[in-house]
Amino acid sequence: MTNLDAPGSRRRLTGWGRTVPSVAHVARPGSPEALETLVATASARGATARGLGRAYGDAAQNGGGIVLDCTALDGIGAIDVGAGGATITVGGGTSLEAILRAVLPAGWCLPVLPGTRHVTVGGAIAADVHGKNHHRVGAFSAHVEAFTLHAATGERRTVTRASDPVLFEATTGGMGLTGVIIDATLCLVPIETRLMRVTTMHTADLDATMRALADADGGHAYSVAWLDLASGRGRGMVGAADHATRADAPDASLEAAPRALRLTTPPLPVSVVNRATVRVFNEAWFRRPVPREALQPIESYLAPLDALDAWPRLYGPGGLLQYQCALPAGEEPALRAIVEAIRHAPTVPALAVLKRFGPGSDAPLSFPLEGWTLAVDFPAGHAALGAFLDTLDERVAAAGGRVYLAKDARMRAEIVPLMYPRLDEWRETQSRMDPRGIFTSDLDRRLHLTRGSQA
Ligand SMILES: Cc1cc2nc3c(=O)[nH]c(=O)nc-3n(C[C@H](O)[C@H](O)[C@H](O)COP(=O)(O)OP(=O)(O)OC[C@H]3O[C@@H](n4cnc5c(N)ncnc54)[C@H](O)[C@@H]3O)c2cc1C
Repeated sequence: MTNLDAPGSRRRLTGWGRTVPSVAHVARPGSPEALETLVATASARGATARGLGRAYGDAAQNGGGIVLDCTALDGIGAIDVGAGGATITVGGGTSLEAILRAVLPAGWCLPVLPGTRHVTVGGAIAADVHGKNHHRVGAFSAHVEAFTLHAATGERRTVTRASDPVLFEATTGGMGLTGVIIDATLCLVPIETRLMRVTTMHTADLDATMRALADADGGHAYSVAWLDLASGRGRGMVGAADHATRADAPDASLEAAPRALRLTTPPLPVSVVNRATVRVFNEAWFRRPVPREALQPIESYLAPLDALDAWPRLYGPGGLLQYQCALPAGEEPALRAIVEAIRHAPTVPALAVLKRFGPGSDAPLSFPLEGWTLAVDFPAGHAALGAFLDTLDERVAAAGGRVYLAKDARMRAEIVPLMYPRLDEWRETQSRMDPRGIFTSDLDRRLHLTRGSQA
């Protein structure tokens, strides 16, 4: 089959940052059998699974090939409560939001939630996403009991850590390149209320923020810091939290609260994000009255940006680049130097978030490593931004750190093996699962992740 008669409709796709678009044949299989047919018809440009498109860069794009929109591979099974806790089996295209709607009223929660609920289970496993509680519970894959993988060979395989540890680890963090996740069995944790008990602390500079985060980790399950890098010396606000118990909130119900107002951003002809607007916003954000202790719905503490739909439109047609790196514990001087460089970046660091990670997993391409993670949004399009971020990559790699593949849209291929030193080991498994190189993506071709993309 040629690319011209590939299945699906031709569509221009981007990631959440709205940079680096490409055109692909998008097909939405409604069943594993339909998926099998589509994968079997893939041409030389191959196929890429796509969830809800929340990866910021080009991970879920496949210019000239097929993009498999997996959101119809959804469905939520019953909660299975056993002696060791509860699990739930869901389709790979099910969103975390849909799972929360099903499990929260029954007094259960997903143990790891990223900064948005609008990601699919397949996307969460493929990027091995982390939450604000990584220091306590690790990444998403630590709570996956099993998944079913549709491999490039047509084989459908149920994978657990015990049945095939190498394939399990290669798929968690493997950016969809070992196969398509059709369903997964996930562990749940019990909750008593739908609220979080949040303590907010204001900090004067980066060192104070880092200290407050480190202190928070000892006593709280969740922690995160917002940093003001547009003005000042990295002042910020640290939010440390735990699930609220019935004693904290005796009147709280597990039933859904009335839906919060969701604001939307219209398409804007130009970016409204610039040094002046970010400074004004940050000043107002930092000065707004926030109680030191408060109860907040789980969703609004863990995924505050979900209240504003399509917010990348604020960056205008050029979109945004998110730079997220992880640095090992002990590399605090490198973190300080990187933050200082970012304060003087060619374009304004609009939104900056700092978190701490606990120990990483055994997955060769999983992003978290014990230490720190910094995520910064920049308006895309400034001529000098690419070269500036290249210098950050070098600093990060030299410190033994790495950039998050799920956020990346611009890194150079040469630096990836320095950041992910087990890349060759991962390639062995990936090529065993996909000897003809069916699964690929724009990210894969740009960063030469698979052997096929190097040809
Ligand atoms: C506002 C916001 C906040 C975020 N916060 C965090 C955070 O705190 N922590 C964090 O870790 N990440 C965070 N992210 C990133 C996001 O969680 C990941 O990029 C996630 O992978 C997106 O899932 P998705 O379903 O949208 O997948 P997509 O973006 O569509 O795809 C992402 C990757 O998953 C693969 N994939 C998708 N579905 C499947 C499948 N069924 N089988 C196999 N592979 C598949 C794709 O091929 C691609 O490589 C955030 C993103 C946004 C927009």
